[in-house]
Amino acid sequence: MSTEAAATMVCLQGVPAAPGLAAGPIFRLTEPTIRVERQAGSATAERMALEAALQTAAEGLAALIETAGDDEEAEAILSFQAALLEDPELTAPAFAAIAAGTPADRAIREALDGEIAGYLAAEDAYFRGRAADLADLRDRVLRHLAGAEEAPLPAGVICVGSDLAPSRFLATRWDGGGLALARGSTTSHVAILARARGVPMVVGIVADGVANGHPALLDGTDGSLVVDPDQAARLAFEVRQAAELQTRARDEKFLTRPAVTADGESVAVMVNIAGPDDLSGIDPGHTDGIGLVRTEFLFHGRDRLPDEAEQLAVYRRILDWAGGRSVTIRTLDAGGDKPIPGLTRRDESNPFLGVRGVRLSLRHPEVFVVQLRALARAAAVAPLKVMVPMVSLPEEMAACRALLDDALAQLAAESLPAGRPQLGMMIEVPAAALMVEAFDAEFYSIGSNDLIQYTMAASRDEPELAGLARPNAALIALIARVAQYGAGSGRPVSLCGDLASEPAQVPLLLDAGLRALSVAPAALATTKAAVARYRRAA
Ligand code: PEP
Ligand code: MG
Repeated sequence: MSTEAAATMVCLQGVPAAPGLAAGPIFRLTEPTIRVERQAGSATAERMALEAALQTAAEGLAALIETAGDDEEAEAILSFQAALLEDPELTAPAFAAIAAGTPADRAIREALDGEIAGYLAAEDAYFRGRAADLADLRDRVLRHLAGAEEAPLPAGVICVGSDLAPSRFLATRWDGGGLALARGSTTSHVAILARARGVPMVVGIVADGVANGHPALLDGTDGSLVVDPDQAARLAFEVRQAAELQTRARDEKFLTRPAVTADGESVAVMVNIAGPDDLSGIDPGHTDGIGLVRTEFLFHGRDRLPDEAEQLAVYRRILDWAGGRSVTIRTLDAGGDKPIPGLTRRDESNPFLGVRGVRLSLRHPEVFVVQLRALARAAAVAPLKVMVPMVSLPEEMAACRALLDDALAQLAAESLPAGRPQLGMMIEVPAAALMVEAFDAEFYSIGSNDLIQYTMAASRDEPELAGLARPNAALIALIARVAQYGAGSGRPVSLCGDLASEPAQVPLLLDAGLRALSVAPAALATTKAAVARYRRAA
């Protein structure tokens, strides 16, 4: 392929991972090929060289963590790599090989390649995704051993390749560029970062034939990549760009107004957050409160679990921000695609169907009760709703209620101020939706991300099954069932899965009877606008 005008247009279709449009020249991500000839020294010299490289890599990561600032996702990813570096089990085989006469670079490469192969062979997409983190780490250490520097990615390009290390993503100035990867999934770390930073991204794109420098158009919303676009494709892209700008400007007007349908019905629109830092750019007056706090992110990327005082401080900050608006904090949803080293199990063959959410919390009362105590203490300050994830049996809710009672009794005995939060549950397992009336919960919040995957038996992070893991009649029937039960029983029902952040899905959710939605902060205006366009069918 040449860059001359005669180049033929190539259209590739993948899976959308981060929405938006990007245009720029192709930049191929080459597989790291760090094969520097090192002059191997004595075993002692090689050991010292590896120790120094590990130390420099750790310092580099610490500096990157520092610059991540309020970006919690970035910090979690970098901290994960930093924690790996500190794990002596990971580097022990390399030091053993060095003692047996292997040069430092080969020793660490072989040790980490073995680990990477293990992650790549995992059935679960989450663990396959972690292979990229390890490869990133391996190359970082090898570069330090070789004294080489990492070449930065140019700004404003459309990067194509197999996979991209999270740290390289973070070190890149995207400036209107985008990313198309063959590997990775919509829940890979890079995809999470891309969505958070507004960088359009597509996965499942194999672009082997495309060469550097060719003009390309990337559509992260519909999952396509067009290389060497012809005049018609360029024009169509420009029209879409203009339309997107217009839509954004049109929807922005709804941000400051309460969400009301075209028939005059009020709909609560709340936000989903991972922690208080996510609230920094949001005006509470533009929301009806917080519909989901994913507290597991407070437990990620750290060397110990947050204690009661730390958790209390975080919950209080969130309640302060809300200023009396509704706040729903979810108890720890670790496991599945969100492992926490030292707490979640590492040996599960299918973590999404494993010891996750409430199943894990009930097996670890020493962790769960600390969280319930912190939540009850926060509830002394302002009304608070506490929500339990991954409930599938009424007995699980009964056990949570009993532990909350215990926590309240302990706090009373210690004369610590506490309040009784409302206790509700996520509806994200079909069994819970089908038997909703059997559960002792004061409110329900539908987790459509998991409800879809468990209803359709299609993993939420498998790009090849993206067509199955979409809203459909079965899902809507379950949602409608829960909404109807809520309306009849007077128990509030909301939805906090990503579906509510997709304007095209909002009418379906309102038709199903929902009148409370919780969305990604970036989707507040578009969701409110979709509500305003909605009219109930006659
Ligand atoms: C969901 O499953 O829809 C949900 C909101 O929870 P999470 O995405 O954190 O699993
Ligand atoms: Mg869920």
